[in-house]
Amino acid sequence: VALRTKELEEANRKLQLLSVTDALTGVYNRRFFNETIDREWKRAIRSKEYVSLLMVDIDYFKNYNDCYGHLEGDRCLCFTAGALRGSLKRASDILVRYGGEEFAALLPGTKSPGAFQVAEEMLVNIRKLNAPHCASPIADHLTVSIGVASILPEKGEKDVELIKAADDSLYRAKNNGRNRIMAA
Ligand code: GH3
Ligand code: MG
Ligand code: MG
Repeated sequence: VALRTKELEEANRKLQLLSVTDALTGVYNRRFFNETIDREWKRAIRSKEYVSLLMVDIDYFKNYNDCYGHLEGDRCLCFTAGALRGSLKRASDILVRYGGEEFAALLPGTKSPGAFQVAEEMLVNIRKLNAPHCASPIADHLTVSIGVASILPEKGEKDVELIKAADDSLYRAKNNGRNRIMAA
């Protein structure tokens, strides 16, 4: 019986981990992101701390799939996720696959300069991958665009404000030529 309990606990832990993980890339999934941003936002209001969010989107990824095929595209998502996750330093930072070829990094207790530094580290690490991109109009290698937002949340404000602000910045990074960081 003791063994069964142990096996059950182990199985439960695996299930728990699976439920918060993106199946392709192994980073956290959108569901975990939604839970975590809600929790961290409320915590930040109580403790009067900044929360930062980075939205990262692969540049010309449709072209990448067209050029190398969908399986290579999937592989690219995996090593991109690895490079982005490797750019985070604190235990409380999380990297999630937000959807498709878009990732988000939530950095609790981090102000704008710190968040910008992480974004710069991401660009460096993506560049270090030196992954060829035969169909990118802006480079011969894989690039990403990053939108940064940092907010000191106040009571009554909702976490969608942070997502909107990071999305806005990402949009500007795309429109200003991609392969760059824009901060709100
Ligand atoms: P932009 O620089 O403006 O971001 O251009 P883009 O081509 O990256 O953006 P767009 O939104 O036009 O295309 C996203 C592409 O990402 C289209 C879709 O086929 C691809 N994609 C989304 N999810 C996956 C996936 O799980 N695997 C693969 N291989 N491709 C995916
Ligand atoms: Mg894209
Ligand atoms: Mg996209």
